[in-house]
Amino acid sequence: MSGKVIKVSGPLVVAEGMQDANVSDVVRVGELGLIGEILNMTGDRASIQVYEETSGLGPGAEVTTTGYPLSVELGPGLLENIYDGIQRPLTEVRELTGHTIPRGVSIPALNRSRMWDFVPTVKEGDSVVPGDVIGTVQETTAVLHKILVPVGVTGTVKSIKAGSFNVEAVVAVVTDAKGADHELTMMQKWPVRVNRPYVNKFVPNRPLMSGQRVIDTLFPLAKGGTAAVPGPFGSGKTVVQHQLAKWSDVDIVVYIGCGERGNEMTDVLNEFPELHDPRTGEPLMKRTVLIANTSDMPVAAREASIYTGITIAEYFRDMGYDVAVIADSTSRWAEALREMSGRLEEMPGEEGYPAYLASRLAQFYERAGVVRCLGSDDRRGSLTAIGAVSPPGGDTSEPVSQATMRIVKVFWGLDSSLAYARHFPAINWLSSYSLYIDGLKPWYDEQFGPAFMKNRERAMTLLQEEASLQEIVKLVGQDALGANDRLTLETAKMIREDFLQQNAFVDIDSYSSCDRQFKLLGMILEYDSLCRAALGKGAELEKLFSIQARDGIGRAKSVDADKYAEVYDGIVKQMTAEIAEITAGGEDQ
Ligand code: ADP
Repeated sequence: MSGKVIKVSGPLVVAEGMQDANVSDVVRVGELGLIGEILNMTGDRASIQVYEETSGLGPGAEVTTTGYPLSVELGPGLLENIYDGIQRPLTEVRELTGHTIPRGVSIPALNRSRMWDFVPTVKEGDSVVPGDVIGTVQETTAVLHKILVPVGVTGTVKSIKAGSFNVEAVVAVVTDAKGADHELTMMQKWPVRVNRPYVNKFVPNRPLMSGQRVIDTLFPLAKGGTAAVPGPFGSGKTVVQHQLAKWSDVDIVVYIGCGERGNEMTDVLNEFPELHDPRTGEPLMKRTVLIANTSDMPVAAREASIYTGITIAEYFRDMGYDVAVIADSTSRWAEALREMSGRLEEMPGEEGYPAYLASRLAQFYERAGVVRCLGSDDRRGSLTAIGAVSPPGGDTSEPVSQATMRIVKVFWGLDSSLAYARHFPAINWLSSYSLYIDGLKPWYDEQFGPAFMKNRERAMTLLQEEASLQEIVKLVGQDALGANDRLTLETAKMIREDFLQQNAFVDIDSYSSCDRQFKLLGMILEYDSLCRAALGKGAELEKLFSIQARDGIGRAKSVDADKYAEVYDGIVKQMTAEIAEITAGGEDQ
């Protein structure tokens, strides 16, 4: 039974005679079999979001439901792939059909002709529950893909084979309590709008190390946490996200490019396959899945891409891995939602966005977390969600930024004035925040002792004091300030220039280990303390400012990674000696 189109409005198609269909079903529309999804139904009328260009489609065209919700294929072959919003493998589509994706094309997401070496980890007679690992596949040099018992299958392994198979081949048979056999392949399907199940969630308590000083030291993100990077055009959002994709100490990265300006997405598509994992030297794609919607793809597919991406991420989380999802940009995604809502003639909320904007954003970020995975081996996995927000004109009072800020726990606010002053990463230290500080404190304490968090607080205080002192300086000039306040300004400047500024394009500076961050900030704060003590004993400010060790601090960022510890120790010794000399000189007089 098929329905008939009665109205076409851009990506929205209304069809009647759809009594056999259900909300969320995937449908095929018209002769070309365009792919769409039912958004809502009234009687036998279905409103359908079509993920492909609808031009040429008119009333009377046939619509048939597949009876299934929008789903993704999960199994070996996901990594290194580039998919569109509804998981069509872009490279294969292009090889087959040339540059643009022809409408209605249906190519399976996981390559059926590729063979994978399956190594069983259970044997005949073992009992298994959903989430148990029955075998592994070395999918790439970086990632061991674990084949999991799908949800709904519990029983005893009747047979299992080792060897080379494609994703559709039966590798194991499990007999359930009723005596029914379930054939397991290396591939599963999962509806993208349904969260994949887990046993329970834990409070995130380990940091996601990004190697970026302003992030790891001042505004850390926890593995399994949520973060947003809002910023106007040109403020460095793309660089921040690339740095996170490159350096984060996670096992898997899912990068969702949902409809940023076409050329930017092309940059990602060209650039990512070229990048190498700085730790292993392997191509970064070996641990990456890219979801891309270039500008020639319809707006509606953006909406799906977020769900496609996060479902793939959950699947790797379920194997016990640390996964990061980076969505660029949630603003473009929200615009797709707004366009669809407008066409559905729903009651608009603020700035025309639908009233459910905030709850949809929450549903995305809610899928982050540290979980105990299904299965009997007590695995833990984490999913960290990072969303870029690109508010028009950089004004974060608009609805998408506001709704995001209410949900996420880390906010890295990019600032155009910092970017203009070439302070990169242009993350504003006064407006950004991390609500994971308390949860992560025990970890930092264990690694570095209480000094790490104390230094962090001291640095934040100095930066805040600097901001209020600058107000005074603007009114009455620098000379009106006392020596201690001038020292505050000087230290804050050092924190900004010698610590927070980090050049993504200079190899030695692009990544900074946490220990190195700790020592670098510690050295600057040590200078501050020594100077303050010296001032108390009558030392001259100008002399303290011009000690030679200052040159060493200024150059500390570019010291080789294997030498920084001894070099920094040397600088601290030198500055202690120089300041002691100045103090002694001051007391003599
Ligand atoms: P957006 O995505 O917000 O439009 P980009 O990420 O493309 O902005 O950044 C714009 C420019 O800012 C980059 O081309 C680069 O020159 C500079 N930039 C941003 N972040 C850094 C950084 N960490 N180090 C050095 N340069 C940076």
